[in-house]
Amino acid sequence: MGSDSTSDSNNPQLQDCLFCKMVRGEIPIQKVFEDDHTLAFDDINPQAPTHVLIIPKTHTDSIADTKDPAIFAHVLASAQKIAEAKSLSHFRIVSNNGQEAGQSVFHLHIHLLAGRPLSWPPG
Ligand code: 5GP
Ligand code: ZN
Repeated sequence: MGSDSTSDSNNPQLQDCLFCKMVRGEIPIQKVFEDDHTLAFDDINPQAPTHVLIIPKTHTDSIADTKDPAIFAHVLASAQKIAEAKSLSHFRIVSNNGQEAGQSVFHLHIHLLAGRPLSWPPG
């Protein structure tokens, strides 16, 4: 898609986007946090006791495609608030950019993982 977009009802790609559907309330989520710019919810296939996905409400495909750097600030600030609210002693933030890096949903998101020892390097 290549640009930051709002949920345009005339744009079929955004209509089909799984995470845009969550922003619009069309798919149920276990909501963890929400503000004007971001939505956070539990991952359906958790890889750690805490596995939260934090997404911008505005659609952008990935880190590489994001034009507005404020989007990065919003998702990271939300991650910080969630970590604080959950009193996480340690955590990891990951964003997979591109299919070969493991990205499977092409709406920018960061994973917040915590609650177990997190080894390095990641696979
Ligand atoms: P990616 O693989 O793109 O880095 O991350 C996408 C994440 O979305 C995966 O961890 C996957 O488990 C999660 N996911 C995919 N479909 C759903 C869904 O319908 N609901 C929720 N809560 N998470 C989902
Ligand atoms: Zn989307």
